[in-house]
Amino acid sequence: MNNVAPVFIDGKWEKIKTTEFGKVFNPSSEEVISMTPFCGKKDVERAVKSSLKAFKVWSKFSYAKRAEILFNYRELIKINKEEIANIISLENGKTLPEARGDIQRGFEVVDFACGILHLAKGESLSEIAPNIDSKTNLEPLGVCAGISPFNFPAMVPMWMFPIAIACGNSFILKPSEKVPLTAIKLAELFQEAGLPDGVLNIIHGGKEVVDALCIHPNISAISFVGSSHIAKHVYTLGAKHGKRVQAGGAAKNALVVMPDAEPKSTMNSIMSSAFGCAGQRCMAGSLLVGVGKNIDSLKQTLIDRSNNLVVGDPLKNKNTEMGPVIDGNSKERIISIIDGLVGTGAKVIRDGREIRNKEGFFVGPTLVDNVDSSQHIFSQEIFGPVLSILNPKEIEETVEVLNKLNYGNGATIFTSSGNTARYFSENIKCGMVGINVGVPAPMSIYPFSGWNDSFYGDLHMQGREGVQFYTRQKVILSRWDNLYEYKSGW
Ligand code: NAD
Repeated sequence: MNNVAPVFIDGKWEKIKTTEFGKVFNPSSEEVISMTPFCGKKDVERAVKSSLKAFKVWSKFSYAKRAEILFNYRELIKINKEEIANIISLENGKTLPEARGDIQRGFEVVDFACGILHLAKGESLSEIAPNIDSKTNLEPLGVCAGISPFNFPAMVPMWMFPIAIACGNSFILKPSEKVPLTAIKLAELFQEAGLPDGVLNIIHGGKEVVDALCIHPNISAISFVGSSHIAKHVYTLGAKHGKRVQAGGAAKNALVVMPDAEPKSTMNSIMSSAFGCAGQRCMAGSLLVGVGKNIDSLKQTLIDRSNNLVVGDPLKNKNTEMGPVIDGNSKERIISIIDGLVGTGAKVIRDGREIRNKEGFFVGPTLVDNVDSSQHIFSQEIFGPVLSILNPKEIEETVEVLNKLNYGNGATIFTSSGNTARYFSENIKCGMVGINVGVPAPMSIYPFSGWNDSFYGDLHMQGREGVQFYTRQKVILSRWDNLYEYKSGW
């Protein structure tokens, strides 16, 4: 079979023997562009063996030497940015600007990892007791593994492996079987940058491989990002087998518009938050809450802007503003959610199902009005270009309603009042708050801090917490009695 994605084990690119494959589509054309082989336990075993061997060498590399390789990697990503963006666009369906944003966010983590020694340096205190000095070392854990979703083929894996590797760990990445090609390119570049064999291994597959990673006795930590029920499963299974686990899950994020919000930038932010990446972002705004009276003109402008949104194949038309969703299952699932709104009280005021017969996995921008917190659509993650609209009277009521959500990734308020913004950011129960920022995803120096069912674990990805996750502390106490006493001998 041609076009089968290779695995990367011990510095070698290999085609594995398997009978199980997943299809990699160009979601814009429905064409199958590659096949993902599903690895088994034997492949996991080989990857772990290689990672263990590499860890022994890599963990002894100086921080300066590791930084040199990371700087090379940084440079290579910069040079190859356009090629990677094209791969992302091809296998995921993002527009090219979105694909560039995906790789840029990952690049920023590599940037962060280049200078990681500032956060990895531990603390020391001399004379903590007479002639006794104390220091902490942050030591790498060993072999770490990462499992990533389809929606950010570059950024999400790069939340994980550059930091783990910069800290001295070796890493096994299992990218989404729907988008393996970006991860392959990212690993090729790291190899070219001088990364020793086995420090980064890539295997493919689904549940069998993920479970094998979660229970393997020689894996120390698991990073996972995906839907909440699988995040919870990975967290539970990994923790039960003695591993450190961080697991990001699903989300439902609100965009709250106050009557005093600046109209033009607010509208641009809403459109990009709800329909950017075809709504397939864990920080996508999927609930629009218009507080007070401004909501009717807001709705009309949204309908007009949605009607004019250029939806299509991003690689064929450079003016495309919204690409397809990832696959046929996803398209059908989103359409059936919209179909199911009949009789719920919610009303479709802009229908994205109109393009359901177009070639490609397209769903048009969809606006659903008259939503309230008793309806399923209020709390359910749709992961597509569907924006639900609520119209509460006051900000206090808004916060109360939004705090009923089980998820807790992000929420944004659009206002020109510092007081309202402060009230909102203090009282809303989620981990990332935007004030006039439609997608408040933090930069690499801050943790990506989901709450509630959007995250299982303790230490989040990126920033200082990322370094803490991939290292463990050792406290060293040393006693050196004064020179005179040594000279006096036994
Ligand atoms: P998914 O849960 O289907 O898959 C994620 C990973 O889990 C993939 O690598 C997949 O192969 C693996 N997997 C699939 N089924 C499994 C099983 N039964 N057991 C073990 N592993 C399994 O998620 P997806 O559809 O690829 O991505 C979309 C989801 O990811 C959305 O819910 C989105 O909100 C979430 N997401 C969350 C964040 C965050 O930071 N919280 C970021 C991006 C995406």
